[in-house]
Amino acid sequence: MKKYILTGMIALMGTALFTSCGPSERKETADDEFTYEVDRFEDISVLKYRLPAFDQLTAGEKEFIYYLSEAALCGRDILWDQNFKYNLLIRKTIEAIIDTYGGDRESDEYRAFITYAKRVFFANGIHHHYSNDKFVPGFSEDYFAQLVSGSDVARLPLAGDQTVDELTSFLTPILFDPVLYAKKVDQTEGTDMITSSANNFYEGVTQAEVEEYYASIADPSDPRPVSWGLNSKVTKIDGKVTEIPWKSGGMYGPAIERIVLWLEKARDAALSETQKEELGLLIDYYRTADLGTWDDYNVMWAGNTGLSVDYINGFIETYGDPMGMKATWEAVVQYKDTEASKRTALITENAQWFEDHSPVDPQYRKEKVTGVAASVINVAMLGGDCYPASPLGINLPNSNWIRAEAGSKSVTLANITDAKDIVARGSGFMEEFAFDRAEIDRAVTYGSLSDALHTDMHECIGHASGKLAPGTDPNALKNYASPLEEMRADLFALYFMMDPKMAEIGLVPSDEPAKAQYDNYIRNGFLTQIVRIQPGKDIEQAHMRCRSAIAHWVYEKGKAENVIEVVKRDGKTFVRVNDYEKLRGLFGEMLKEVQRIKSEGDFAAGKEMIENYGVKIDQELHAEILARYAKLNLAPYSGFVNPMMITITDRNGRVKDVQIEYCSDYLGQMMEYGKKYSFLQAW
Ligand code: ZN
Repeated sequence: MKKYILTGMIALMGTALFTSCGPSERKETADDEFTYEVDRFEDISVLKYRLPAFDQLTAGEKEFIYYLSEAALCGRDILWDQNFKYNLLIRKTIEAIIDTYGGDRESDEYRAFITYAKRVFFANGIHHHYSNDKFVPGFSEDYFAQLVSGSDVARLPLAGDQTVDELTSFLTPILFDPVLYAKKVDQTEGTDMITSSANNFYEGVTQAEVEEYYASIADPSDPRPVSWGLNSKVTKIDGKVTEIPWKSGGMYGPAIERIVLWLEKARDAALSETQKEELGLLIDYYRTADLGTWDDYNVMWAGNTGLSVDYINGFIETYGDPMGMKATWEAVVQYKDTEASKRTALITENAQWFEDHSPVDPQYRKEKVTGVAASVINVAMLGGDCYPASPLGINLPNSNWIRAEAGSKSVTLANITDAKDIVARGSGFMEEFAFDRAEIDRAVTYGSLSDALHTDMHECIGHASGKLAPGTDPNALKNYASPLEEMRADLFALYFMMDPKMAEIGLVPSDEPAKAQYDNYIRNGFLTQIVRIQPGKDIEQAHMRCRSAIAHWVYEKGKAENVIEVVKRDGKTFVRVNDYEKLRGLFGEMLKEVQRIKSEGDFAAGKEMIENYGVKIDQELHAEILARYAKLNLAPYSGFVNPMMITITDRNGRVKDVQIEYCSDYLGQMMEYGKKYSFLQAW
């Protein structure tokens, strides 16, 4: 599971605006000379991230990072194809136009085309990375035809003897028809989520057929079920529902083989024997698509803690599948931030105490919280579904039984968070949306610490807490599983942030960081996160549904006692927390209920909670918030370009040293990746 912050940036979370204390002091001194934002278009801000103290790593660590980084970049095409079956075709067409179009490149229409191209690159396809809606091009169909016909034929991704005109006619409705492939993921209540979603996990099958298929192969009594359906496309062959696995020699084979090639080099350069063995299992899995091997790998990966260099590489998160089974491909390469990891170590050491004192029904607590390994890391490379939009925290593996038996690893992405923090300073966001000066001051003083703690606790102890009742189907919550899981982790963090234990073990100086987080969370869930949603639309994304559901539920439950107050001032809406202790109690109550829902697989109750509190937006309020936000001229989403790794090799081609260069050209990086890391065919 990942924790995303509302980008746009930390400002949207409202904290860490003017970092004056806390973890951000980790960053090096030369910030002023380092320009973080490298591009800005539509609702997107593209930043670069720094690699602090990279040059202090050993030669062996750098070499290992380099191989893993190449493996992280080689799977890019897979994600594009998973998002939508014509994404690669469209991207290759766009790349051909950008490289070879012979017409006027100064016109407004060409600029509109470039903006469209940047949006598509950012989203890894033609659907918005967050809202899942298909982009509307800012140029005409005729102009598109002109661009294609004005480009080098040899570079266009023509199928067989297809003509340029045929390619254009094929692509035009895909790009321009607002109804065709309108949503990447459609979880609208009452629709066939599979046939109405444009993603490429299923083809020619209905939701009912897919449900029936997996019900027929999964054994609900298996205490250690594999992650059924994780790494395959489902379609029909000769009228029979069939899985096509993603593996070497199979679907996505050419990209997977490149990943494997670099993973083999990484295995040979691994920093320990167990890490070597673990990489061997990952390679086996990519070759066989065997989900049992995937589990073996994850058990080992989860147990390999305390490493100076670690990574994520595989089909991991299932947010992109409305059924919550099929995983998008992603990769992260990371090295440890030793100082900041002391904070997460403190949380982890006390994990059992938190579990034992959790407000959930004792029968759904874990008797023994296993190995919640948490660390603060710096990212060295982002790939697949983590690029360019990056999470701020990641907790893996996702398999419930592995989490229970082998534990999980949790990371907070320090350099990514820092970049967002620094850019968010002075944005005017808090001045617009916070209730009063005291709230702003609290955020200024404690926001950074408070945010870091919330992320750490969400990842290290939140997701790791609780257990299922015997016999509960882990997939019982279906499309509501992701938002409910995020709620569980958020509520766990919120509830304990204000526990006296926090000060006792030295994590906070007082209640103030918790109060800053409460202000922030309610303001965000109630008001500010909806700046990312277009007028008239519902909330779709799991983390946003989670925040909305929590804020609205506690507001309603605390209404009689005025725990949270909605205040109107000069025609503007604000929220104010009147009683932090009572709010904490409500977070605890809600955590108890959400854990019960998960433990018992109570689909009806989970659905009701999300649909009633997490999905709908008050239209009048939405219009007001959007108007206030528009005046600030901020980008609601942000993402990152990767650094470039320059290798110095010895006579035998072995990497001796790696130097970092920072890229400041977003489109340039996208075009370069299109040349260097494209291994799949457009058709
Ligand atoms: Zn999470």
